Amino acid sequence: MKLVQFLWYLFIACIEVHLNQLLPAGLQRRLAERRLIRTIRAAYENVPFYRQKYDEAGIDIDSIRSADDIKKLPFLTKDEVLINFPQSIVARGVTIDDCHYSATTGSTGRSLPFIFTKKTFAFYIATGVRMYTMIGYRPWHKVAYIKYTKLNYPRLGPFFQTTHIKSTIPVEDQIRELRQAKPDLIIGYASLVYEIAKRATVEDLKHIRPKFIGINSELSTQDQRDFISTVFGCPVYDEYSTEETWMIAAQCRHHQYHIFTDNVWVEFVDSEGREVKPDEMGEIILTTTRSPAMPFIRYRIGDLGRYSNAPCRCGMGFPLLKAFEGRADDCFILPSGKYVSSLKILNTFTMYIKKYLHLLEEFKVTQVRRDFINIQIVKGAEYDPAHIEELLADIRKILDEPLTITIELVEAIDSRGSIKRKAIESLVGKDMRRNQDQGAYKPVWEA
Ligand SMILES: [Zn+2]
Repeated sequence: MKLVQFLWYLFIACIEVHLNQLLPAGLQRRLAERRLIRTIRAAYENVPFYRQKYDEAGIDIDSIRSADDIKKLPFLTKDEVLINFPQSIVARGVTIDDCHYSATTGSTGRSLPFIFTKKTFAFYIATGVRMYTMIGYRPWHKVAYIKYTKLNYPRLGPFFQTTHIKSTIPVEDQIRELRQAKPDLIIGYASLVYEIAKRATVEDLKHIRPKFIGINSELSTQDQRDFISTVFGCPVYDEYSTEETWMIAAQCRHHQYHIFTDNVWVEFVDSEGREVKPDEMGEIILTTTRSPAMPFIRYRIGDLGRYSNAPCRCGMGFPLLKAFEGRADDCFILPSGKYVSSLKILNTFTMYIKKYLHLLEEFKVTQVRRDFINIQIVKGAEYDPAHIEELLADIRKILDEPLTITIELVEAIDSRGSIKRKAIESLVGKDMRRNQDQGAYKPVWEA
C-alpha cells in the first residue's frame, strides 16, 4: 500500500514539476515566494527550533510577508542542525521512522543528519527526472549510472532501463560495462566520467555512443566538460545539488544553470549578510520549500555563486545561476565585503605559468587580512621581475580594491605540516567561517 501511495506521489510530482517549467518567470517567482512565506510560517508553528530562534531574535512572524521580509531572519548554520537534530529541528507530529533518513557525506569531513517525508522524497525524485528531460532524456532511453550505491528504479517493460556501474571498480572495468550497456545517457561524478573519457580507446568509443552525459556532485571545470564532450561526441550537462536540499540548479540545453525555484529559494549575500547585485559573487543561502518535516531556512550551505536576471534562450522561467565557484572559506574577502573566488587567482597564475614556462617553480598566495595579500614565489630558471609585474597587474584587476600585495621570494614554500598544501589560501575567509559556525556573525578581524 505504501508503495502505491509513493508511486502516486511521484506521478503527481512529475506532472507538477514538468508543468512548472513552462510557467513564465513572473508567475514562477510569485508562486515560489508564496511557498517561501508559507514554509517559514509553518516552521514557526511546528518546529520548536525555529520558534525559539525567531523569538529570541525578536522576530514578529506576522511581519514576514514577502521575500524582502525574510532578510530579517537569522541564518541557519550546519552546527545548529547538528545540535538540534532530531529533537527540536524536526516538525512536531512527524514520525521519523516513516521518513527518508540520511546524512550528508560532504567534503568538509562532517556528517549532517536530515530527514524528509516520502512525499517530499517523491518531489525530489521528480525534480531529478526533470533535470534529464530538460536536456532531452525520454523514458525509453537507456541510462548508465556510475555511483557507489545502487539506485533501485523499477523497470517498466522498455521504459526506465538503468544499468548501475560501481564507482569503486577500476576504470577499465567501468569502460567494459559501458560497452555492454550501450547507454543513451551516462550519469556520474565529473571526475569519474573525466577519467573514463581519458582512458577510453577509439574501439571503446565505437560501442559507447551516448546522446548526452549528465555529471553531478562535484565542481567541474568547463575544460573538463569540454574534454568529456569532445571524446564522447555529445553534450555534457552539469547540475548543482546537495543531499540535504536536493536539486538547486541544473543546466538546460543551452548550458545555462536554471535555479529550481519550485524546490528551493536561493539568496546570494556578501560577507556581511547583505544581498548582492546580479552578477556579483555571493554566498549561497538556501531555503527548502518542499520539506515541511525538516525545513532548512536561510541555510548557509557554504558555496559561492552569482545569479543573473537575464532570460535564457530555452525560454524556461526559472532564473539563472551564472556560476558557482567553490567553497566560501576558500575565497578572498575584499575590504568592501565582496567575495573573489580563489579559482580566479589560481587560473591567473596558471595562465602565466603556461605563458612563461620557467618563470616560477612554486607559489603560494595568502590573504592575511582583508587589505593585505602576500605572494610567496620560488624563482624558476627564467625568472623575470617584469613578467611578475605583469601577473600582479592582472591580479590587481581582479581584486580591484585598495589593498596591499607583497611579493616574497623564498627558497621553498613551507606547508606548515599540513598534508594538502593549498596554493591559494585566505586566512580571512577561514576565520569568518569558524566564527559563523559558532553562531556569531561578526568577523574576527574586525573585533
Ligand atoms: Zn535555459
